[in-house]
Amino acid sequence: MPTCEAIHPEDHTACEGPQDAVRVSDQLGGSVLACVHHGARILATVTAATVAPAAVRGAAIEAYRRAKETPPLAFQWDDEPMTLVEHAVWKGIDWEPTQAECVRDAIMLLRFRVPGMSPDRAFLLGTTQIEASDADLALVAAALGVTLEKLLAGDFPWRAPRENTEENH
Ligand SMILES: [Zn+2]
Repeated sequence: MPTCEAIHPEDHTACEGPQDAVRVSDQLGGSVLACVHHGARILATVTAATVAPAAVRGAAIEAYRRAKETPPLAFQWDDEPMTLVEHAVWKGIDWEPTQAECVRDAIMLLRFRVPGMSPDRAFLLGTTQIEASDADLALVAAALGVTLEKLLAGDFPWRAPRENTEENH
């Protein structure tokens, strides 16, 4: 089958691993077999859903762990990842990020590699030990591919896209 049973019709991501890795059940007794990726997504979406092992040992725990880091209806953010501020809202945090926090999170997202900036300086900025200069801000914004305004408003993806999603299936 092209996708597992748990995929949302608007979700265009590929399955990850066996499509009967886990079984996700709702409170009304309905259940579906799922790959670990879509199992985590439906688990995060359906109220009080539970996950049980099916064909793959350990997959239920993995799906559960991922679901805790997954917003409901996660497919909405596949094309345009959730921003730092949206992520805070999802977590229930009322948050106006400071410039230093935006720079820190941006540099962490870039894994401390900012083209044009020394690794030492990126480390100091990414750990909020120094204040960013205008030149630093311009480099970080360019590395993220966003405007300065978006950088300083936390309006950039809160984390890098999952790199292994399309590899193993
Ligand atoms: Zn799937």
